[in-house]
Amino acid sequence: IVKYREIKKAFGDTEVLKGIDFDLYPGERVAIIGPSGSGKTTMARLLMTLEKPTSGTIEVDGRYLWHKEVKGQLVPADEKHLHEVRGDIGMVFQHFNLFPHMTILKNCTEAPVKALGLSKKEAEERAKEMLDKVGMLEKAKDYPASLSGGQQQRVAIARALVMRPKVMLFDEPTSALDPETVGEVLQVIKDIAKQGDMAMMLITHEMSFAHEVADRICFFDEGIIQEQGPPSQVFTQPKTERLQEFLKRFH
Ligand code: ATP
Repeated sequence: IVKYREIKKAFGDTEVLKGIDFDLYPGERVAIIGPSGSGKTTMARLLMTLEKPTSGTIEVDGRYLWHKEVKGQLVPADEKHLHEVRGDIGMVFQHFNLFPHMTILKNCTEAPVKALGLSKKEAEERAKEMLDKVGMLEKAKDYPASLSGGQQQRVAIARALVMRPKVMLFDEPTSALDPETVGEVLQVIKDIAKQGDMAMMLITHEMSFAHEVADRICFFDEGIIQEQGPPSQVFTQPKTERLQEFLKRFH
């Protein structure tokens, strides 16, 4: 459902991604692990069209992100096309960025009404279903400031799910949280993974979580995918020295 081909990304003289080929299959859960600064977030930002690759292509469900096919030729995509393709992707960031002046429910209905054209009633029904899923329905009338970080992140997850994306992208969803609320957010993500069959890309530093949730682990280092495979293999029989060193930090 997602295809990166020969993706390179440089900021000035610094090449952060040095040629990424990556596939995410429908229904698959892939955890992306690797040291700080290895390019994981940049890879996610490209998918969200927050950054543009220096070269290479990304496809989402058969459509190019940055290009559009016109009469068999690839031409640069316009805003409308980008917007449509981006609609297939739900993203949860490290910082939840809920709208502070809106109730929890309104935070979850704003986008489906504006971007999907749902009626207020339909959007509220969907939002309530998703808030229930993340255990936050009883807070629907409250404002973000009255919630803990973990609760706000659960709302951010519901807000993304309301859009019914084909792919959910989580970029270190727990790394800005107080340690005591990390568990509840990881549990919600595990539940979503268990219940649905949505493809998921999870960038995380939580190794036991990655082991439990992911079908495949990708180890990112120095701008390339150094090693990948099922968790049982990657965590117990890492092939490269770099991955062996990286995993030692978590014991
Ligand atoms: P972390 O686990 O700490 O989030 P990461 O693997 O996600 O790290 P990235 O955030 O993708 O790494 O960053 C990779 C490199 O790209 C870093 O050296 C960072 O300083 C650089 N970088 C990222 N965004 C920009 C930018 N907009 N301008 C310049 N350099 C950038």
